[in-house]
Amino acid sequence: VSFDSLGLRPELLSAITSLGYTSPTPIQAEAIPVIFEGCDLLAGAQTGTGKTAAFALPIVQMLAETTPAEKRRKPRALVLVPTRELAAQVSDEMNRYARRLSLRSTMIYGGVTIQAQIERLHRGVDIVVATPGRLLDHAERGTIDLSRIKFLVLDEADRMLDLGFIDEIKKVAEYLPAKHQALLFSATYSQNIKQLADQLLDQPKRVEV
Ligand code: AMP
Repeated sequence: VSFDSLGLRPELLSAITSLGYTSPTPIQAEAIPVIFEGCDLLAGAQTGTGKTAAFALPIVQMLAETTPAEKRRKPRALVLVPTRELAAQVSDEMNRYARRLSLRSTMIYGGVTIQAQIERLHRGVDIVVATPGRLLDHAERGTIDLSRIKFLVLDEADRMLDLGFIDEIKKVAEYLPAKHQALLFSATYSQNIKQLADQLLDQPKRVEV
């Protein structure tokens, strides 16, 4: 499989080339077509497998294709991650693709003052990469509008559960519109992950790498 054959736009292929990626990793080859089909996804993938690009590339492309420029800048993709470090990594990679298609991505996490985040959200973003606690805080304060979310990604879902974020994740999910595409990535598959998947995913396709 080549990146070309996955149906990615030239702008994204050029971003991939400049990152030095020559061919898709297994999780990318399997997950990208499922995401383009519009299916929910339950993916078993360790860190280091290329899972970030596996969700970032199709999400960026679908956001760019489905929304006229004037309707942009309300968050339409929400990526929940367990830690600030991962938020930074995912946000960096997301931005590399997003900016090629004139989309804006921002990072939201706890442990820092909220005001700068409120201002950034207010100026308008398309994609939010966030830790669950601070994201819920914004949702409850009304400083983020989640009513237009089309994509929810739970990245390293097992680590989010280990860190005790289950209630925050479920509460965040209540702010999302009923119809959205949900993608769950986890290195391990436990009873708790199964329950979370049952609750948040609708007839997911499963991918294991
Ligand atoms: P991730 O699992 O998303 O944290 O990615 C792990 C590392 O693999 C990151 O440093 C990526 O830059 C790199 N990577 C992702 N996709 C590819 C690819 N198709 N070819 C080579 N490296 C990649």
